Amino acid sequence: MASLGATARSFMLWELLSGMKLTFSYMFKKKATLNYPYEKGYISPRFRGEHVLRRYANGEERCIACKLCEAICPAQAITIEAEPRDDGSRRTTRYDIDMTKCIYCGLCQEACPVDAIVEGPNFEFATETREELFYNKAKLLANGDRWEVEIAANIAADAPYR
Ligand code: SF4
Ligand code: SF4
Repeated sequence: MASLGATARSFMLWELLSGMKLTFSYMFKKKATLNYPYEKGYISPRFRGEHVLRRYANGEERCIACKLCEAICPAQAITIEAEPRDDGSRRTTRYDIDMTKCIYCGLCQEACPVDAIVEGPNFEFATETREELFYNKAKLLANGDRWEVEIAANIAADAPYR
């Protein structure tokens, strides 16, 4: 019995030392975790986050109200109304996205002939109420103004692969 006890103690000591060795080895390795929200990870140029409506550099809306995005959306999350302006151009009078329906498939972005509707890099848009996720045109254009620099860079980075 005494020798069995000594064997068990040796085994436990070996386990303890192995565990400590493993712990110390990880202390000097690169961390696998991030201190979010103070640190954020890499985001691909193709990341499909919060939607935006973009403008041209002169401030004009890109969207020409062709409604391709509305037609292709599998979740029927997009609602567009449009009418011609005095100059004959066609623009939306209403552009809503129900973000509670959206499945972030990116098809609206793929269908858009003028890169107007884009899923941008923003993933921090959780809300406290459901109503805040009913986006209108003003909200989407404001998102576009906020993220234009990043989105233009992402589109340029992705362009060689298309
Ligand atoms: S990402 Fe997909 S589901 Fe969401 S609005 Fe665009 S087409 Fe619809
Ligand atoms: S966002 Fe693009 S696809 Fe949708 S209506 Fe405007 S121009 Fe057409």
